[in-house]
Amino acid sequence: MSLARTMEGLMAGNSVIRKMFEMGQEMAKNYGKDQVYDFSLGNPVAPVPYEVKNAIISLLENQDPHEIHGYMKNAGFDDVRTQVAEHLNSRFGQNYHKDNILLCAGAAGGLNILMRCLLDEEDEVLCFAPYFTEYKSYVSHYKGKLAVVPMKADDFSLNLDAAERMIRQRTKAVILNNPNNPSGIIYAEEELLLLTKMLKEAEERVGHPIYLICDEPYRELAYDGREVPYLPNLYRNSIYLYSFSKTLSIPGERIGYMAISDAVEDGELLMQAAIIAGRTLGFVNAPSLFQKVIGQCLDVKIDLGFYDRNRKLLYTELTEMGFTCVPPQGAFYLLVKSPLEDTESFVKLAEKQHIILVPTDGFGLPGYFRLAYCVPYEKIEASLPAFRALAEDCRNCECDKEAEEEG
Ligand code: PLP
Repeated sequence: MSLARTMEGLMAGNSVIRKMFEMGQEMAKNYGKDQVYDFSLGNPVAPVPYEVKNAIISLLENQDPHEIHGYMKNAGFDDVRTQVAEHLNSRFGQNYHKDNILLCAGAAGGLNILMRCLLDEEDEVLCFAPYFTEYKSYVSHYKGKLAVVPMKADDFSLNLDAAERMIRQRTKAVILNNPNNPSGIIYAEEELLLLTKMLKEAEERVGHPIYLICDEPYRELAYDGREVPYLPNLYRNSIYLYSFSKTLSIPGERIGYMAISDAVEDGELLMQAAIIAGRTLGFVNAPSLFQKVIGQCLDVKIDLGFYDRNRKLLYTELTEMGFTCVPPQGAFYLLVKSPLEDTESFVKLAEKQHIILVPTDGFGLPGYFRLAYCVPYEKIEASLPAFRALAEDCRNCECDKEAEEEG
């Protein structure tokens, strides 16, 4: 069996999130599920809204099965594309129409389609650390380069000076994920205005559009009344990507959409390319039943309180125990600074307490861990004694180290 060399590379760097998740599954088999505190995967457990189930049943009972299970235009059902366009117009004051909308297999499907459309070999895509670790593979599939803008030390704001320096002729796009996985930060409007100003100037400098890909599967998960600014209102060349995976708790159904407004430079061409790329990459079209389902669920309000309770409990308790946590504003991730210099040792200590967390080195952020708190509240409550024991283990470890250094 002779695999492509590039595939061998991908396999070697297989997602640390998946690795930790699989370890959690293994531990659950050995010790029992209730004895393992798995915070590895962003797999939402909030109840699937009843509107989703109602829509599925009603569609199956009342619609022509050949229509809801059949092929349609590669961009998706026209009626659903119109519904999505009208939904975005009423929320954000845009002027989308159906031809601006492509229904796709989640944000991951949309990102792959965009990379296929935009990248020639060695073209670059910029993103800001910390970033969703899969971007690297999505860009490298199409032989592009992901250029990661480093963080300012321990500051989760956008490092615009560095970004400006990193934009060059081969820069085709910038991906911005707001609210952010893994930091839980929400970039506010003032900061985004500085970003878009910098990008507009950079476009003038390089003489071609630099598309801002707005990857927003967590848009609806914004706490304490925070707003997530709608970037296409701030920057002409924005491509908006949304997914229902997280907010409707249906990640397995693979449904989302891409919106490219008429204002986007070469937008019509890009949309045509995206439709063809979706087909030739083998997605063909977004899952048909779920296109229709989301058409009926665009206005469904999610129960934000479900994750907010988790967020508050985990942040408050862990901070009280002495862990340094980044105050989470959105999404369902908590970043915890490694209390030990050697992060490997910290993972081992956590494992000893049956706590599964994900080191964020692969997210461009060494020295931290991500906890996905999209788990049942009771699981977090049950995990607290294990976290207390972990804090104690870390203190002992530090003492041992100091004694060793002194001795
Ligand atoms: N983008 C970000 C930032 C994510 O965290 C995820 C999933 O965790 C995705 C994209 C992909 O989501 P999906 O393809 O399920 O919509």
